[in-house]
Amino acid sequence: MKALRLEGIGRLSVVEVEKPLPGPQDLLVRVEACGICGTDRHLLHGEFPSKPPVTLGHEFCGIVEAIGSEVSDIAIGARITGDPNIACGACPQCSTGRVNLCRNLRAIGIHRDGGFADYVLVPRKQAFELPRALDPVRGAFCEPLACCLHGVDMSGIRAGSSVIVLGGGVIGLLVVQLARLAGATTVILSTRQAVKRRLAEELGATATFDPSSADIVEFVTGDSGLVPGGVDVVIECAGVAETVRQATRLAKAGGTVVILGVMPQGETVEIEPFDILFRELRVLGSFINPFVHRRAADLVASGAIEIDKLISRRVTLDEAAGVIAHPPAAGEVKILVIPGGA
Ligand code: NAP
Ligand code: ZN
Repeated sequence: MKALRLEGIGRLSVVEVEKPLPGPQDLLVRVEACGICGTDRHLLHGEFPSKPPVTLGHEFCGIVEAIGSEVSDIAIGARITGDPNIACGACPQCSTGRVNLCRNLRAIGIHRDGGFADYVLVPRKQAFELPRALDPVRGAFCEPLACCLHGVDMSGIRAGSSVIVLGGGVIGLLVVQLARLAGATTVILSTRQAVKRRLAEELGATATFDPSSADIVEFVTGDSGLVPGGVDVVIECAGVAETVRQATRLAKAGGTVVILGVMPQGETVEIEPFDILFRELRVLGSFINPFVHRRAADLVASGAIEIDKLISRRVTLDEAAGVIAHPPAAGEVKILVIPGGA
């Protein structure tokens, strides 16, 4: 079978590899669609730890083609989405329920072979069934949606909340939708590209802002701003210093800031601890997707999240290497790899 392998830092190629054999607790899944994520670019450039050679792709959806000898509760032919993050279940973090902070976390598509291939092996416990009638391309959004769901859960958004989302990539655009579903009545998205602001408005943002045009803090929190005094919840989804700096200043006193965006390890941002203390801000990190993959899959299956508008392009395995090697083009949101042919 064909697989898109990270051969070493900076080296990505499509190669012919053996079709894997399922172990006793595995599913052999024929990949129908697998999303390209910013993490794939970080892996290529050595900015995220991995162990090449490894097949990338952690946002996959596909059909169960064979099951291990100890698997009895899923049928061949089922469509599944995979939660790529495999916790050890035994370390101090796992034993207190913080599985996303597992010391021995291993991820499909990062540490072991992933979904940019004709087939992927998925441990049964990491697989969640989807309706047979669901478009598999939508199924590939369960993983990023699960990460957003964890962040929105942590944020405490509830009916009537005011929210600002910083960064209009796929994560920000999913968070906008989840914030509305959670009951927020004001959802502002700040992002520089007009095409993404328009998209956000179609997806439920009540207002959008171009942060390169004026001072966002004044625009939102000023006396004649959209939410004078600041918003209940800020969700940072850009992973850049500028938005992290804006985040605490946009929150109201007693408000919550959730950091979802990934800034490069070792980079720092200046903050004013007095402001966090004096205005009792809650500043939280949200890392991956503990215990939310089932809910994310149900949300995708329900149709409550608009996904099709987030899909910019579908590519083959051969084309995917070039996509990952370059930064996303202007206006592009999500690119899906279709191993069977785009
Ligand atoms: P992405 O496509 O790169 O989106 C980030 C967006 O931020 C860009 O589209 C850009 O849009 C916007 N942006 C950049 N600079 C900005 C600024 N100064 N002000 C406002 N917006 C700005 O990435 P993504 O896939 O949506 O992911 C977003 C972040 O979440 C990444 O850092 C990713 O690594 C992280 N992530 C975290 C988790 C987790 O578990 N916490 C899971 C998945 C992804 P414009 O050009 O329109 O400004
Ligand atoms: Zn563990």
